[in-house]
Amino acid sequence: MASSFTQHDFGTQAKNHPFPMDVSSISIDSLTPDRLKDFRLHLFSHLQTTLEIEQLIDIFYRHLKQLIPVSGIEYNHADKMIDMHVGRISKHRCNYQLNMSQQQFGDIAFTRSKRFSEKELSTIESIMDVIIFPLRNALKYRDALSTAMIDPLTGLNNRGAMSIALTRELERTRRHEDQDMSLMMIDIDHFKTINDRYGHLSGDDVLRQVARVIQQSIRASDACFRFGGEEFVILVTNTHLAHSRTVSERIRVAIEEQVKLPDKDLKVTASLGLAHYNGESDWPELLNRADKALYSAKQQGRNCVVTSLVKKPQSTFAE
Ligand code: GH3
Ligand code: MG
Ligand code: MG
Repeated sequence: MASSFTQHDFGTQAKNHPFPMDVSSISIDSLTPDRLKDFRLHLFSHLQTTLEIEQLIDIFYRHLKQLIPVSGIEYNHADKMIDMHVGRISKHRCNYQLNMSQQQFGDIAFTRSKRFSEKELSTIESIMDVIIFPLRNALKYRDALSTAMIDPLTGLNNRGAMSIALTRELERTRRHEDQDMSLMMIDIDHFKTINDRYGHLSGDDVLRQVARVIQQSIRASDACFRFGGEEFVILVTNTHLAHSRTVSERIRVAIEEQVKLPDKDLKVTASLGLAHYNGESDWPELLNRADKALYSAKQQGRNCVVTSLVKKPQSTFAE
């Protein structure tokens, strides 16, 4: 572990943080092998308390500061798109790649306003391996969480992810008067016939294409989820009803025009139900309105968008 070390000059301020542990008598000058062993054990037991990477780095930083005045730690893992820091980034830094058994666990950098001495560097190196197992577990946990949130067929976020996102977004919309949101429920028309006529693998191909077309039709700040089977839910944030209507019609047309099976005379269409936020207390209430509007779209002949309208007091009808 702990290869490829470099020390650089940069230019920012150092900052003091509260002393977090009860072994305050420890210092780099009084660091006997036994005291180092105690320190490593103490650090390891604290690192075992979390699977959150940011918390791990923070615990490591707070413990290291007892021995060596560092102003901050940066941690990044390019493959996993993790880039975080605790404390403050300062003028001097030393970087390490965290590798073990040919596995890479990212890069860590220690920074402060004063140059690190050789003794300080060798002390950092003598405790750095303590973070490697907790970090490996935290990275695995992070991977498992994101896999659990993704539908393997379409690559879209699944229903579990939807529940988390909608809870958060509805809370935000309820808190801020200037925020608005819409939900769309999309269902592919006569999808059972597509499966029956062309086989389930072709049906899967259609599902993947529909997912891609939807993603290409929404903004990066919006989100699409596979609700189940051939049903999708779209969250449109920061929007007016008129804009949501435009987006839903754009999706309907894009599915009709773009989803195809090679060498097959196939017309794929979808029906959409749209509901715009109207003071609902939870997202299932709003999704229920979108679902009713979708049902109405099916009844009206499919391949169309129906908007759920709310009259005061909250009675719902579909137009
Ligand atoms: P409607 O226009 O009323 O929505 O009719 P429909 O045929 O689309 O609706 P129905 O609910 O009868 O059929 C949905 C079908 O979707 C049945 C199910 O076998 C199929 N399905 C669900 N999940 C998958 C999947 O992952 N892959 C494939 N190929 N088919 C799936
Ligand atoms: Mg369905
Ligand atoms: Mg259907």
